[in-house]
Amino acid sequence: MAIIIEGKVLAKKIREQLKIKCDEIKEKNIIPKLAVIMVGDNPASKIYVKNKSKACEEVGIQYEEFLLPEDTNQEELLELIQKLNEDKKIHGILLQSPVPENIDIMKAFEKIDYRKDVDGFNPINVGKLATNQDCFVSCTPYGIIKMFEEYNIDLEGKNVVILGRSNIVGKPLAQCCLQKNATVTICHSKTKNLKDITKNADILISAIGKEKFVTQDMIKNNSVIIDVGINRTKEGKVVGDVDFENIKEKASYITPVPGGVGPMTIAMLLNNVIKATQKNLRNKD
Ligand code: NDP
Repeated sequence: MAIIIEGKVLAKKIREQLKIKCDEIKEKNIIPKLAVIMVGDNPASKIYVKNKSKACEEVGIQYEEFLLPEDTNQEELLELIQKLNEDKKIHGILLQSPVPENIDIMKAFEKIDYRKDVDGFNPINVGKLATNQDCFVSCTPYGIIKMFEEYNIDLEGKNVVILGRSNIVGKPLAQCCLQKNATVTICHSKTKNLKDITKNADILISAIGKEKFVTQDMIKNNSVIIDVGINRTKEGKVVGDVDFENIKEKASYITPVPGGVGPMTIAMLLNNVIKATQKNLRNKD
């Protein structure tokens, strides 16, 4: 029976530590501030943004939302980002995805000042991560690494298999695991004989977005299973990619959905806003 990795509990502990740091910054008459841009009216994004604003409030980070209509064009979005880049009161900028199809999201991420890029999606931060330099690490991978650290799960020499190669989860996560000396395999929709690969994983991380995609017969005995997926069942329940009930009997550690990776992602966002504010302060010294 696997140990459940309680992301929710760890995230709360991290938020409490961040609140102390935030209060220290406020003593210098600076209020850490996050700007969140949302383009269009995506219902899932609205929920994510609401959760982020609540978490900011809890820690004492100021939060401002910029809601742009669905028909916003690229230029208008880039202009807003430029304005926020120049605003000295704003320390972190987040562009909520997805954006409408007419917008090139990579151009928008590129426009965000890398020093305010608390999501770690600007190519400068992506490149710094790939070359082991100090940077803003994308929040979901960063949160997963924190969970490994908290539960003393050593990655050195382990076979880590990541399902999903997105820019926001799979790829940066592979870099983070490499830094921890793991042997990393990334799988995607064109991967052949997936089960042969997953069965060899000491640590299997699924970031696909398909309910019950990872089944018991796909995993190795006593492996660590991290479930990034967020899926909604026909009944409206939130579930991950992993067949949790059956897999928990075979794994050594497993993250639940909800209450696993999700809260850690938000905690790492707050962490990055505090880090951005502290860096900004140091540059003024
Ligand atoms: P994307 O849709 O960008 O990427 C999904 C990846 O899964 C792609 O690389 C795709 O391959 C791969 N894939 C799809 N089907 C298969 C298959 N049958 N076999 C192997 N690989 C497959 O998703 P994201 O990375 O943005 O998100 C993944 C999931 O994680 C979603 O459920 C999302 O909601 C959730 N998520 C959760 C977060 C959290 O905080 N808990 C944060 C971010 C995301 P290909 O590249 O070939 O298309």
